[in-house]
Amino acid sequence: VKEHGKNNVKMYSKSMNEEAVQRRRLENELHKALQLDEFILHYQPQIDVKTNSIIGMEALIRWEHPTRNLLYPNDFIALAEESGLIVPIGQKVLELACKQCKDWQEMGHTDLRIGVNLSQIQLRQPDLVESVRRVLEMTGLEPSFLELEITESIAMHNTDLVIEQLNGLVALGVQISIDDFGTGFSSLSYLSKFPIHRLKIDRSFITNITNKSESAIVSSIVGLAQNLNLGVIVEGVETELQRITLPALGCHEMQGYLFSRPMPAIQFGSILESRIG
Ligand code: C2E
Ligand code: CA
Ligand code: CA
Ligand code: CA
Repeated sequence: VKEHGKNNVKMYSKSMNEEAVQRRRLENELHKALQLDEFILHYQPQIDVKTNSIIGMEALIRWEHPTRNLLYPNDFIALAEESGLIVPIGQKVLELACKQCKDWQEMGHTDLRIGVNLSQIQLRQPDLVESVRRVLEMTGLEPSFLELEITESIAMHNTDLVIEQLNGLVALGVQISIDDFGTGFSSLSYLSKFPIHRLKIDRSFITNITNKSESAIVSSIVGLAQNLNLGVIVEGVETELQRITLPALGCHEMQGYLFSRPMPAIQFGSILESRIG
């Protein structure tokens, strides 16, 4: 029995080792990717279905890996966070996104806003507010068009620091939205403590939108948002049924595959242009 146990330990540590080696390799690659500008952004439109217009877009990171296919955030964001590389990567994302939004505004789409995801690690950086300020100055984007998306789980740790950082960002004129709203298992009390502007309703709440209790939840979230004077947008809209049902529940800003998948800047730009003409 003892021998057996020993072997198990050996096997365990071997696979742990392999995993560590692989992580190490990916981490090195992430470093290089930053230097070689292999990170790009895809943009997913946000639609106001009342006017059928594009009101903004969310920037979503992709990695153009030299030898593999396009890599998605699920493949590398966790490691980027653990290694701290998310800080310079997130900075790059912010620069690209603000610059792109400004470019499109200058082409005549003057009211477009840009949503950028902010990692918890970034939110803990003491120089976050200053670096956001610099990016806005550098790109010339008016702060109110930048919307930083944070998740509820942020509210559960280091609350004082988080509030201070968010207040600093809001003082710049930037907007804050709560991503994946309703999935964070957190108490709602942060809603009155945090300076926020918009709730993004998670797609898990709209999968069976004609279901009575599901639509009750959505209209309650909308009511909550209205009472708190917050904007609200639904994510992950995939079906025509959702598109026609949600406005009756008070929700007319939508994002999801039904309208468009996230796409490269070139493609997004030509869709914007075709809408203007
Ligand atoms: P998220 O912020 O909740 O972004 C929405 C995700 O849902 C995106 O996946 C998007 O492609 C996908 N999506 C959009 N519409 C639909 C739909 O109708 N149906 C379904 N099933 N999915 C839809 P993506 O691009 O793979 O991003 C995954 C997550 O990675 C994001 O979730 C966000 O948390 C994170 N992420 C993306 N870009 C960044 C970034 O620049 N920085 C950081 N820190 N995180 C990022
Ligand atoms: Ca998001
Ligand atoms: Ca989300
Ligand atoms: Ca998410």
